[in-house]
Amino acid sequence: MVAQLGEHPQAQLAPPVLVDSHCHIVFRQFDDDLEAVAQRWREAGVTALLHACVEPAEIPAIRALADRFAELRYSVGVHPLDTQHWQADTAQVLRQAALDDPRVVAIGELGLDLYRETNLEQQLAVLVPQLDLAVELDLPVIIHCRDAAEAMLELLRRRRTDGRCPRGVMHCWGGTPEEMEGFLELGLSISFSGTVTFPRAEVTHACARLVPAERYLIETDCPFLAPVPRRGKRNEPAFVASVAARMAELRGESLDLVARTSTANAQKLFSLPGASV
Ligand SMILES: [Zn+2]
Repeated sequence: MVAQLGEHPQAQLAPPVLVDSHCHIVFRQFDDDLEAVAQRWREAGVTALLHACVEPAEIPAIRALADRFAELRYSVGVHPLDTQHWQADTAQVLRQAALDDPRVVAIGELGLDLYRETNLEQQLAVLVPQLDLAVELDLPVIIHCRDAAEAMLELLRRRRTDGRCPRGVMHCWGGTPEEMEGFLELGLSISFSGTVTFPRAEVTHACARLVPAERYLIETDCPFLAPVPRRGKRNEPAFVASVAARMAELRGESLDLVARTSTANAQKLFSLPGASV
């Protein structure tokens, strides 16, 4: 029998292949129903996830999640709001964790947060050795940067002059187009989260329209920042589909193109599995 056009609704309904390039499913918000959460990300077409780390004590639990879910890769690092967890041996702990497991594909999340804290010197003292480690191990960095673009650009520009600016991604982007231009010039990619779905996030919308195709990623940052229409609820990796849909609207592109582009970009930056494009 000859197949007619439109005779294969299943093929038409197959979701596009997506990557959640930043999630925290190790958090207790997922203790009760992680299998169901995984089932939903698979149904949504999410074939790879990058799990971010906020402090070294998380690493064994994140590694166990990577054992449980073959599509998961992870970073190791210390978040700028977790500077109290930086000890004399932390750089060595992170180095060893990265060397011990090839599923460690990035250093982070690291960065500066002057929205919630004012301890810039302390944050820099935790950030700089992690940037050094990323360069040493030739791994990309996941950069958290909130109300601190100027200080971050200054630091990274200085490091570029010295040939010590790692590659990486600006995670959960919320800055201006001008700031984004500065980070793009440094070779960094830009990752959009659920905030891009918020109606009043006009500045982020402008960035989503302007970012070059080969330089953007999408993420959930779950359990935080659930995209519209689930804003205010617990976020989860499946909801990265809503981020992709809003990116497509803003860029005037098909969902399929946004999915393929963001997936290819994440794969390339982080060497992720399973997301053939
Ligand atoms: Zn995060």
